[in-house]
Amino acid sequence: MGDSAEASRSDMEYYSNHITKLIEQLSRLPGVGAKSAQRLAFHIVNMPADQVKQLADSITGAKANIRYCKVCQTLTDQDVCPICANVKRDHKVIMVVENSRDLAAYEKTGKFDGVYHVLHGAISPMLGIGPNDIKLKELMQRLQGDVEEVIIATNSSLEGETTAMYISKLIKPTGIKVTRIASGVPVGGDLEYIDEVTLLRALEGRVEL
Ligand code: ZN
Repeated sequence: MGDSAEASRSDMEYYSNHITKLIEQLSRLPGVGAKSAQRLAFHIVNMPADQVKQLADSITGAKANIRYCKVCQTLTDQDVCPICANVKRDHKVIMVVENSRDLAAYEKTGKFDGVYHVLHGAISPMLGIGPNDIKLKELMQRLQGDVEEVIIATNSSLEGETTAMYISKLIKPTGIKVTRIASGVPVGGDLEYIDEVTLLRALEGRVEL
């Protein structure tokens, strides 16, 4: 790793400023190493100008138009996301997930007809992420409405479990039923990478906390 990063840094001295800048920007993206950033940068400069414009426009367009749903906090381009706006969903059952990708994973199963709440993270004392750093206040506000069950579907990582425990302690006194998805979900595994059958089993096998 160190070696290839060193090599590419000196390689960059031969490139034009514009390409160097592009490579630097791309290499800041998650999962893009120095070599991938170079490959992508050269691919982009060789693309037809209109395609490059479309790519750039979709990046700035997404950033400018995407916001948090007023109700569930998922990323959406409307004030209220299509799931929260759907009257056919069961608004009394709220599934709490860590991020919008986890929401998408459950939606793909097509078997959950409740609504969601997206925390945008998990509590991690080690990383200095506390309850106020995730969308927990917003969840507690929703619980003042007519809610029958909160299903906690945070990951089975240490952070996910810490978050689940914290939330259940907060909700218990309200008398609302709190459940946790069954463990069957690989430890530390991101929900988005788990197949639909496993997700459904985890949902159906949920236990009351
Ligand atoms: Zn929503």
